[in-house]
Amino acid sequence: MPEELDRLFQEVKHSYFPSWDAKEEWKASLFDNEILVGYCDRSKKAILVNTKKWSNCVKRGDHIGLSVLLIHEITHAVVREQRQVDHGDKFKSRLRKVAAEARAKGNIYIADRLIADLSFYE
Ligand SMILES: [Zn+2]
Repeated sequence: MPEELDRLFQEVKHSYFPSWDAKEEWKASLFDNEILVGYCDRSKKAILVNTKKWSNCVKRGDHIGLSVLLIHEITHAVVREQRQVDHGDKFKSRLRKVAAEARAKGNIYIADRLIADLSFYE
């Protein structure tokens, strides 16, 4: 796992999900997949980021995009809905809360991209 991914994972975790994963059981790692850009694997306690997506974002210096992806997948870990892939009301309201927190912290680009992400599931 690239050190940078772990650093960003820790940063996102501490900024937006301070009470989640207090025991530090979860890890972030890269995975190869043709369809998914990210995945929350609850059984392995792993937040997975698509290798291609990761390297494209790193090449462009798009830390915001990577943060948004991590926030999205961590939200799946935090919000327990019936199916892992669900983007239901609980998921959306938690993500909306993170967007509001990002905005309050002055991270308006993260906030805007979370709102844009949410609009796919409305
Ligand atoms: Zn999702």
